Amino acid sequence: MRELLKDCNRVVVKVGTSTITYPNGLLNLKRIEELAWVLTDLKNSGKDVVLVTSGAIGVGSVRMGMKERPTVMRQKQAAAAVGQAMIMQIYHNFFDRYNQTVAQVLLTKEEVGSEERYQNTKNTMETLMELGVIPIVNANDSISTEEIGISDNDRLSAIVAEIICADILILMTDIDALYDSDPKSNPNAKRISCVDWVTDEVRKMAGDKGSAFSVGGMLTKLQAAEICQDAGVKMAIVLGEDPTVIHRVIAGEDVGTFFNSRRK
Ligand code: GLU
Repeated sequence: MRELLKDCNRVVVKVGTSTITYPNGLLNLKRIEELAWVLTDLKNSGKDVVLVTSGAIGVGSVRMGMKERPTVMRQKQAAAAVGQAMIMQIYHNFFDRYNQTVAQVLLTKEEVGSEERYQNTKNTMETLMELGVIPIVNANDSISTEEIGISDNDRLSAIVAEIICADILILMTDIDALYDSDPKSNPNAKRISCVDWVTDEVRKMAGDKGSAFSVGGMLTKLQAAEICQDAGVKMAIVLGEDPTVIHRVIAGEDVGTFFNSRRK
C-alpha cells in the first residue's frame, strides 16, 4: 500500500505545537529549519506541498509571559494574534534560506461551510501552488472561537487535504504512531503499521490528551483520518522529532501509522 506513495504529487504536512516548540513553549528553531529544508526539497523534486502549522496560541502566550495555554477565549485570540505573526516570520526566514516563497492562509469553519468560500479557498491555494509557493495554513484563531471555528488543526489539515485533493496528509506529532494501547502506561503496546479502514476497534485505541501548550491527541488524529478516508486522501501519523521522516514516508518505508484510502 505504501509503495504507491512514491508517485504522489500533492502532500500536506501538519505540524503540531509540540513539534515546533520545546516543552517550555519556546520555538524549536533547529526543527523548524530542518522542516523548511525538507519541505523545500520535496517541492524542488516536483511535488506540491502545503504546510498546516499549529503554534500560534502556544507561542503567543509564552511571548506574553502566560504560564500555560490560556483557556479564556479572548486571551486565546490575543495570544494567537501575537504568535501567528511570530511563527510566520520564522517560517519566512527559514524557507527564504532555500529561496522558497511561502504564503499565510488562515481559515475558519466558514471556508468549509459555504460553497462559495470553499471554492475561493481552493482557488487561492491552487494559484499559490501554480506559482511555486508553499502555502502555510492555520486556523484564524484571533477572530474565530471554537463555536465558529475549527478547534483543532488535525481536522483542519484533513479538510485542507480534501479541498486541494492531496494524495497524502502527514501528521507530525509527539508520538511516533498509533498503538493498540497507551504506550506510556503499557510497555507491551504494539505499533499499528497500517490501518485499512477506521473502525470502532481502531477508534478505541485513541486516548484523548494533548500536552500543556497543545491540543488534540490521538482522538482528533483519527477524526482527521476519517475525513481523509471519505475524501480519498491517504494519511500518516509520524514522530515530528526528525523532519526527514517525511522523505521516508514518501519513499514508502514502514514508519509511523499509515492510513490507506481509495479515490472514489
Ligand atoms: N490553531 C491553534 C494554534 O495555532 C492550534 C490548534 C491545534 O494545535 O490543533 O495555536
